Amino acid sequence: MNLILLAATILLPGALCIQAGDLGTVPDALKQDLSKAGQTISGQKPADMQDFHLPFNRSVPEEMRRQMIEDMVFISGIRGQGRASVMHRYDFGLMAGDFYIDFFRQHVRHIAFKANKKNNGQIASLYRIGGWSEMRLTAYFTTHDVPQIGRMETLMHEAWHADDRCQDHVPCPSPFPFQGEEGVDTTKLAGERACDGSINGAYGATAIMLQNIVRFCANCSEKVLADAKRYGYYDGYIRLVNQRDRELLDADIKNEN
Ligand SMILES: [Zn+2]
Repeated sequence: MNLILLAATILLPGALCIQAGDLGTVPDALKQDLSKAGQTISGQKPADMQDFHLPFNRSVPEEMRRQMIEDMVFISGIRGQGRASVMHRYDFGLMAGDFYIDFFRQHVRHIAFKANKKNNGQIASLYRIGGWSEMRLTAYFTTHDVPQIGRMETLMHEAWHADDRCQDHVPCPSPFPFQGEEGVDTTKLAGERACDGSINGAYGATAIMLQNIVRFCANCSEKVLADAKRYGYYDGYIRLVNQRDRELLDADIKNEN
């Protein structure tokens, strides 16, 4: 029985898995994704809120549902240029909202509320058993002051945990080798199971996603781009414990096809 409970811990004001696989071949799923590219970048209207029939459990408070629906509308509205890095194509398809929404829907079967009794800042976790998965949101999802792209990262991070390619988190190095800017205390990551030993972890996957958004988003505001860059660094780059994976991440954004 496959029973996994994985969590996103937060570093930034409110903060949050890649198997590079054989990048020399194009998976069938990706071919299907690419065939959708035309419709994705044709400028269709952002989906209406009512279009998101998210699988909420009765435990999820109204305010939390509203926030998440707003976030899904935000995600669906992200427009790309029909482009993406190689690893992004392998993980999510093209850099466009429709691909992220499809990925989320295909991986998260159920959404529930869970009290965070430890008050440790954790926003969400993913419970997985067999082919079934449940994302559990804590009150921090609505009470943390997190930019929308930060919440998007949390949602996609948890969805990635439900992907068979995802590698579990590993303890961060202690002492933690990366300093934070003013107001960001990275030292508290030391020893916490909030890093990845593979670029196939959830931090790696969302770092790839965020740097693709920074590079290819056609309609993101300056604030969204700045937030994406910041979260990609603190919730992605510095959480990859192997220098080789950080180099893979850096190289990937230059590796478009
Ligand atoms: Zn995680």
